[in-house]
Amino acid sequence: MDPKLTIYTKMPLALKSMSISIMQGMDKLRFKKWVDSAYTELMESQWFSRNELLELQFQRLKKLLIYANENVPYYNRVFKRFGVMPKSMNDFEIMKKIPFLTKDIIRRNFNELISTNIPKSQMFHSHTSGTTGSPLSFYMDLRTQGYYRAHILRHRAWWGFNFKEYTASFGGKTVIPIYQTRPPFWVTDIPDKLIIFSSFHLKPRFMEYMIEYILRTGIKAIKGYPSNLYILAQYLKSRNAYLPMKFVFTGAEPVYPYMRSLIEERFKCEVSDFYGNSEETARAYECKKHMCHIAMESIYLEIVNEEGSPCKIGEIGEIVGTSLTNYAMPFIRYKTGDLSSFVDNCDCGLSLPVISQVTTKVEDIILSKDSRMVSPSALTHPFKPLDPLAVLKSQIIQRKIGKITVKIVKGPGFSSAQEEMLLRNFRERFGDLLTVKIEFVDEIPKTANGKYRWVISDLTKNNLKFG
Ligand SMILES: [Zn+2]
Repeated sequence: MDPKLTIYTKMPLALKSMSISIMQGMDKLRFKKWVDSAYTELMESQWFSRNELLELQFQRLKKLLIYANENVPYYNRVFKRFGVMPKSMNDFEIMKKIPFLTKDIIRRNFNELISTNIPKSQMFHSHTSGTTGSPLSFYMDLRTQGYYRAHILRHRAWWGFNFKEYTASFGGKTVIPIYQTRPPFWVTDIPDKLIIFSSFHLKPRFMEYMIEYILRTGIKAIKGYPSNLYILAQYLKSRNAYLPMKFVFTGAEPVYPYMRSLIEERFKCEVSDFYGNSEETARAYECKKHMCHIAMESIYLEIVNEEGSPCKIGEIGEIVGTSLTNYAMPFIRYKTGDLSSFVDNCDCGLSLPVISQVTTKVEDIILSKDSRMVSPSALTHPFKPLDPLAVLKSQIIQRKIGKITVKIVKGPGFSSAQEEMLLRNFRERFGDLLTVKIEFVDEIPKTANGKYRWVISDLTKNNLKFG
């Protein structure tokens, strides 16, 4: 274990909260000027017309490409080879000449992708475990982090969030030693106004303390990974209880419809989700009409089909994104592995373009015996008619075409009748194209960064067609 973490875990609660608050306070100070300026700008630009937004985006993209050409050896080389001349660009068409960037290309050209004229002190090292389990490290400048945080604030502002109030947070942070069995299972982060709960302690007898604490403090906003909030909602349901909130924000993992409905029911509040990746190449935020608006001031987002051509409105393809702000290590046309489609505009008043809910990753697609693609959303259907307390957690694993293993952590509502119903529901939908094996487990491990993956497929994705 990291020695710093060992010292931390031995601290009493007050000291833990103090130590987190000091760290977060310093972190906040470091980014303050970047967040403030980005936030002021975003609160204005959100009311721009679509044409004004496109003009802003175009100017930023052009500046980035010129910069990358002059200061990033990888792009200088690639632009030469493919005849990309950023200085003479007049529209977005030039992007089509630039080859896609993948994790693999980044790993192979890591040093060449770093800007040569930004001091390391102006960058920070970031990484993603990726829901695919293939980690990636990269550099980001302070400004990009400023935009990232400002977008979150703007999203909250859309929902009328009161920034003076505390929020209960159920993300992936380790804040309490894993073997601790006595409350408190949380720490207070004063600068960010967060009570950070340990999502590694979501067991009934621990959740009781968490819920009691939230009620006692009168917290009315909750945020976190949807899988964590779903576990809390399941627990509330098992007790026939509710935890009314004014704000529920989810992100970082797909929020499947079955999760959303139980969370909304038990927290008596609409869920507002955001989609984004740590690489800062794709971001979209749900408005009050539950449409996902692209953060186009800092991201150029494309959706492409399997041939790499742009998808039409309504056509599902892979999200390819370019961060318009990260000059430390520009990612241009980065393949995210996430599937979505452009949809018609929203009538909420924002001109920011809209994409459909991102609940599917290319890696999450299951292949039936005849190589038909089954999305995770389709896999949720057989579970729907079950008792909500039958399955506490589940995970779908595919190692061979046409075969899946459904791992299940049984809940109090589980019975052999429920098991039969689940198998029958799968058969009704997929016939003999999908062999389903159920395996009971005590726990479903999370990924290295504390995220939960519902579907894991080991199959190669080369033959996927998702047009
Ligand atoms: Zn909207």
